[in-house]
Amino acid sequence: MAPILAARYTSSAGAISIGPRTRYDREGGSLIVPSDHATTDTASKLASELQKLLGPGQVLTEPHQIATYRRFFAIPPRPRIVPAYPPGAPALVVRPRNAEDVVLVLQKAAACDVPVVPYGGGTGVMGGATPLEGALVLDLGAMNRILDLSTGDLLATVEPGVVLGDLASAAETRGLLFAHDPWSQPIATVGGAVETNGVGYLAAGYGPMGDQVRGLEVALVTGEIVSWNGAAKAPGPALWRLFIGSEGTLAVVTKVIVELYPRPETRLLAAFRFPTFADGFQAITHLRASGLRPTMIDFEEVDGEPLRAAADLYLAFDGPVPVVRAAASLAREICRAAGGTNRGKRAAERFWVHRHDTAYRFLERLATSPGERRWQNVYYANVAVPPSKVLAYCAEVVDLARQHGVVARSFGVWARPEFVSFTLHGRTEPLQDALDATLLLARRLGGSIEYVHGAGLRLAHLMEDELGSAAPLLRHVKHLLDPSCTLNPGKLGLCPLS
Ligand SMILES: Cc1cc2nc3c(=O)[nH]c(=O)nc-3n(C[C@H](O)[C@H](O)[C@H](O)COP(=O)(O)OP(=O)(O)OC[C@H]3O[C@@H](n4cnc5c(N)ncnc54)[C@H](O)[C@@H]3O)c2cc1C
Repeated sequence: MAPILAARYTSSAGAISIGPRTRYDREGGSLIVPSDHATTDTASKLASELQKLLGPGQVLTEPHQIATYRRFFAIPPRPRIVPAYPPGAPALVVRPRNAEDVVLVLQKAAACDVPVVPYGGGTGVMGGATPLEGALVLDLGAMNRILDLSTGDLLATVEPGVVLGDLASAAETRGLLFAHDPWSQPIATVGGAVETNGVGYLAAGYGPMGDQVRGLEVALVTGEIVSWNGAAKAPGPALWRLFIGSEGTLAVVTKVIVELYPRPETRLLAAFRFPTFADGFQAITHLRASGLRPTMIDFEEVDGEPLRAAADLYLAFDGPVPVVRAAASLAREICRAAGGTNRGKRAAERFWVHRHDTAYRFLERLATSPGERRWQNVYYANVAVPPSKVLAYCAEVVDLARQHGVVARSFGVWARPEFVSFTLHGRTEPLQDALDATLLLARRLGGSIEYVHGAGLRLAHLMEDELGSAAPLLRHVKHLLDPSCTLNPGKLGLCPLS
């Protein structure tokens, strides 16, 4: 590491230097926020310049057009770290048509010190795409073409703004499966899913979004467009993986090559109810230990006292009929042995049919009240914990929550035994403290603070702890790729460099 950079990012006692322009005091929670933002004047000059270069339809500046991008619902009223550019009204929105437009916008914005917030479907729940005061929102929604769908090579080449559900439908018409299927499939984009490395219903069998990416094209602030093809294996470090989960802080994804799968001959669904979370968790670990690989593992407590309530497990198996039948039969035996009751095919199918309902409810809410949304006093925590520690971790979460005067409930596991979810309910201040304590406990146990949604702004203050010794390296990479700190400042705990 170059000494100059190491010195810039060294932590001092009690305070973390998140970047030279924003500091977070661990003890007092005080912040040093510089105020040298781009002026409205600079942003309006940038808007007129871009309107001339790109055409007026691609640059939005009217308040009513910009208002729909103000989605603050992920950010608590008193965030632990306020970046140099706090969440707020953006100065302009640009809708590029291709990678060349993106490079142009990045370079013009960097030249006049206007931050750029990449924006896919805007469905991220951590504030990664939340606009920043005076920023340029780069809405990738118009880059929404499926460029190629190869049944021979089992690959799709798409622009970043393609909605996940549209790619799934296009693959299906060719007898193929696009296997990233989150709750938000009808409303989120491929670019957003790559940049958050999202997890979907089928991740138990096919992995998170990042595992399904075979190649990328990215536009850098420094002016280059860099691409990696869909080769299954290549010499040298897989540099393109650097951008997976980077939440729009390092580059803008302008093309993605995604792996597709032959549509399975059959998909068998099953539903079980267990007396407690611990019983169902035992079944899940036995399923894995037996060598079975379900396509879907979805497990969550039903209402009741946490860790004492009953819990429902939904499983799916994909493949040729005899293989799937044998796997499902073994799974039934394992679930019965762990105390599970088979709830029958209808319960399983009902679950499957309604799996995207929350996305449609989200769209309805947006239609009735577009724009700014507020923090709710509930937090959905999604941590990774080594499987051997999951039960002890969950018990400790219940205690930690109680100590902070909030309530933990709805424990669940998604896709892998180590992916653990729960909710925390209570007033804002104690909820925030309880949240930090439970997430950091997962990290200390050898896991991570978030397995599905990324960190955005909401967990930015915990990224030092999450990354540990890798934190200076990430900043070094950021400095190399985005020396002007134009891309998404503050997100992931990365701030502008002075
Ligand atoms: C009802 C609901 C259900 C959800 N269920 C799930 C779920 O099951 N699984 C899951 O993983 N997530 C889920 N989410 C969260 C969200 O849908 C995912 O994080 C999704 O991947 C975000 O996609 P998006 O297109 O909306 O991205 P955005 O929210 O627009 O952006 C997400 C991040 O990616 C960056 N970004 C977006 N596009 C680009 C690009 N082209 N280049 C560089 N950076 C970019 C943004 O700056 C931001 O940091 C859910 C959200 C809602 C509202």
